[in-house]
Amino acid sequence: MTPTPFSATVLGSPRIGPNRELKKAVESYWAKKSSAEDLAAVAKGLRADTLTKLKNAGFDSVPVNTFSYYDQMLDAAVLLGALPERVKGVANDLDRYFAAARGNQDVAPLEMTKWFDTNYHYIVPEISPSTKFALDPSKIFAELEEAKELGVPARPVVIGPVTFLLLSKPVNGQGPLLERIGELIPLYKDLLSQLKAKGVEWVQLDEPVLVTDKGQAVLDAAVSAYQQLTSAADRPSVLLATYFSGLGSALEKILSSGVDGVAVDLVYGSADHLAGVHFQGKLLVAGVVDGRNIWRTDLDKALTVLEGLKNKGVQVAVSSSSSLLHVPYSLKPETHLDDTLRSWLAFGDEKIAEVATLAKGLKQGRSAIADELDASAKAQSARRTDPRLNDKALRDEIAKLRETAGQRGPADQRIAQQNAALGIPKLPTTTIGSFPQTREIRVARQKFTKGEITAEQYEQHMRDEVAAVIKLQEELGLDVLVHGEPERNDMVQYFAEQLEGFFATSNGWVQSYGSRCVRPPVLFGDVKRPNPMTVQWSKYAQSLTDKPVKGMLTGPVTILAWSFVRDDQPLGDTAYQVALAIREETVDLQNAGIKVIQVDEPALRETLPLKKAEQDAYLDWAVGSFKFSTSGVEDSTQIHTHLCYSEFGEVIGAIADLDADVTSIEAARSHMEVLDDLNAAGFKNGVGPGVYDIHSPRVPSVDEIVVSLKEALAAVPVDRLWVNPDCGLKTRGESETKASLVNLVEATKQVRATL
Ligand code: GLN
Ligand code: ZN
Repeated sequence: MTPTPFSATVLGSPRIGPNRELKKAVESYWAKKSSAEDLAAVAKGLRADTLTKLKNAGFDSVPVNTFSYYDQMLDAAVLLGALPERVKGVANDLDRYFAAARGNQDVAPLEMTKWFDTNYHYIVPEISPSTKFALDPSKIFAELEEAKELGVPARPVVIGPVTFLLLSKPVNGQGPLLERIGELIPLYKDLLSQLKAKGVEWVQLDEPVLVTDKGQAVLDAAVSAYQQLTSAADRPSVLLATYFSGLGSALEKILSSGVDGVAVDLVYGSADHLAGVHFQGKLLVAGVVDGRNIWRTDLDKALTVLEGLKNKGVQVAVSSSSSLLHVPYSLKPETHLDDTLRSWLAFGDEKIAEVATLAKGLKQGRSAIADELDASAKAQSARRTDPRLNDKALRDEIAKLRETAGQRGPADQRIAQQNAALGIPKLPTTTIGSFPQTREIRVARQKFTKGEITAEQYEQHMRDEVAAVIKLQEELGLDVLVHGEPERNDMVQYFAEQLEGFFATSNGWVQSYGSRCVRPPVLFGDVKRPNPMTVQWSKYAQSLTDKPVKGMLTGPVTILAWSFVRDDQPLGDTAYQVALAIREETVDLQNAGIKVIQVDEPALRETLPLKKAEQDAYLDWAVGSFKFSTSGVEDSTQIHTHLCYSEFGEVIGAIADLDADVTSIEAARSHMEVLDDLNAAGFKNGVGPGVYDIHSPRVPSVDEIVVSLKEALAAVPVDRLWVNPDCGLKTRGESETKASLVNLVEATKQVRATL
């Protein structure tokens, strides 16, 4: 079968709506303020806008079924009949879907985890031995019908079987999930044949898992699966789509599997190895426009890659490197940016235009897009030479400091001294930083943003809040106190707003999960700290108590992970610039009398590169920049760090290498296993495994916490163990927080009495 090639597309589209219309509609439905029909109407309108936009851009193949009420993996679970048994009792389809996503009074939701190395979280399907796969393509068919009515050349997009299984979770004794691929193949074949009958020319099966190092067995399984899928005659052409990294030598194997086209990421993967590949007339969907960062494409560079492929006789289509799900809709609302800065950027709509331009240039020659090439070149050169990106003095300062700013003293001596000087008891109790963001705090922040109260009034509200949190902690009898972080909207945004080199977008929302959207700051230039950022809050909190108050900062890796980062220098270089700002802040905190400082790095694990070959280099700058940010203080100042949100297995050695005096780490749900891993990695400093899970409103009993502490004491000597919750308390209510901490202190007392 010879596929009909296409020339311009994107791999997927954002779906929250340009002004978060879907978020609002879904949340209103959840709150029973509107009906399922109201929600469906909003969704249909958003889909129509997206499809029309892509059609009008001249795309000859347009992704459909990339819309979702919540998440594409959850949609795939519905498509394949793989929702867990426990939600099957929920009466209607939509409510069952949302119950699987977020639970209801009767059923627990599915888990959520990060989508590869992005900040998007997907719903993790559960597969048990009793899961009976069955095809339900109604969503795809309905969206296909809408596309047809709009006259759009539709290409249905579905998660492929290999990625679906490898990203799901085996439960109830289910063995390795790939073993069940044989059950899925007939369903996918059936789907393909039904789509063919509806006149579909191309189907996109997403297999991003193939860019990770899953090994030869997985690649073989994928090749075999696609041989079977493509063996039928009555099917549309199959595009196997990969993204977030390159395929390397796997590409040739995949091309041999019978697929009609492959989408490859040429932004986060290299185009170099494509030269020797035999495409055998198959379509290469070349992801040359960055789908997950916000920089304007260097059109000349992208076109050179495309022309090179075309000249070798490869059938090429121009595309984004990944779905545009990960970037904001449009640059248009960002009217506050200066023209120079704006000219460096491309959000979703601008990227669509770039794809169209490149496709035109590839087809009609460079002269057909001369103006666009010119404008792109001007923007690239303005960006390269802008003084805000080229502070030589800053670079020199960092290079010099990296040579001289040595290690801290030996950990055991340092920590013993600190604990003695600070009067830290055995099993010291503390928290991770934030206290509940009360209604008063949110109202005050809203009023301040709207200009209804002055900065002084706002700050007074926050100081009152700090005072209340200090008083509460003294009453509770905690040992190392925190100021509670009331002044922070978000642990990255708060710092980005105060550092040079960042800007905030006014409408740059991207989906984080479900109806939750975030507005990541853009790190565009050299990072500098014009003023102290947290000192006044910590100093005020410390003035109210004799107990030590922990200063609270976010580390360089996490600041990078939750921002759009510059792509014109190695990430490690950017990390050290952020690290210098944090280092300056730690010194100022120390000079203001703060003796304990926590630098949070919850994103340490999630930023780990997908490919093993790249992981060591990452860990080197991740650990290096953390140590750089925390080694400017005296040995007598105690450095804490906090890690959460992930399984730490692969980075456990790096956690030990951070060499923080005290590390608090999520552990309650994993029964303290992380402590054995840390021991095995040779970690000898203070450690505070979370003794209860803050992700649920449940108040842990004293007995439960005692059990956790005893488990921890079996793994860690008593003089190294700290007692704290799993994570910050900002999402929790006030009464449950207080009740939980009362029990935490009481449990600690009971265990201390047995020592
Ligand atoms: N200090 C932060 C807090 O307590 C840490 C948050 C986090 O780990 N994500 O909220
Ligand atoms: Zn945390």
